[in-house]
Amino acid sequence: MGSDDSSIRNMPSFVRSRSGQPQKPLLVLEDVYKYFRRDIPTLRGVNLTVERGEFVFVTGPSGAGKSTLLQLVYRQHDVDGGRILFSGRDVSRLTDRSIPFLRRNLGIVFQDFKVVPHWTVFENVSVSLEILGTSQKLMRSRVAEALERVGLAGRGGERVGHLSGGEQQRVAIARAIVTDPALLLADEPTGNLDPALAIDILTLFEEINEAGTTVIFATHDHSLLSSSPHRLIVIDEGRVYEATRGLRAWSARTQMSA
Ligand code: ADP
Ligand code: MG
Repeated sequence: MGSDDSSIRNMPSFVRSRSGQPQKPLLVLEDVYKYFRRDIPTLRGVNLTVERGEFVFVTGPSGAGKSTLLQLVYRQHDVDGGRILFSGRDVSRLTDRSIPFLRRNLGIVFQDFKVVPHWTVFENVSVSLEILGTSQKLMRSRVAEALERVGLAGRGGERVGHLSGGEQQRVAIARAIVTDPALLLADEPTGNLDPALAIDILTLFEEINEAGTTVIFATHDHSLLSSSPHRLIVIDEGRVYEATRGLRAWSARTQMSA
């Protein structure tokens, strides 16, 4: 998609190297610490590597640090120790001018959608491209394409406040993918949706992943985790574990202690 999009293609190759195929993992966390309180680190020595094309669930109980982990990647917060490499670049060393650049190479989807209700669908999605200075003509075609991918083809003129929750989340997903980011972060994106809609939204993320975008999907919804074959990372007491094989044991333990 977007082969004629010069504003995208002109991005530095360290992020846009999908065709040239990867020299480096897309995301690396090296011994990452985050303290919100001096005495108790929220994250204590997190090591994690995400390869291009992966779909990774991040789970753990409420307050475990799932959102914090994602926020460190998109630099809502800085790490207090260790480092985070995005396509080989240390995100904490990006200059202020580079932060918008980092953000446009990351798509982010939140639990509460964060759409602007009195804007149209088109306005909510195109805002990601406006930041890049994309031409009006190109913007129209890219937004149309993104809306088609999320199942909202032809709905660009509608006010977002009039849409259902599931549709609003689709608008937010379209806004996140319209720049064709290398990495899509989702923080409990199904948390405000009923179970059937949650599955639909998960399926949409899986389709986006199958088309080439790396996805990190934070959720504590066990029904989503158990129905899907993806890599699973558990955050527990500030540390991160690979849990693909241990999911059943982990679920049993957390359900007992809940
Ligand atoms: P999760 O997303 O897994 O529910 P969070 O990452 O939101 O967990 O929170 C992890 C811990 O860090 C919690 O104890 C929370 O209170 C604390 N925390 C998160 N963000 C902040 C913040 N901005 N200021 C202070 N404490 C925070
Ligand atoms: Mg959270």
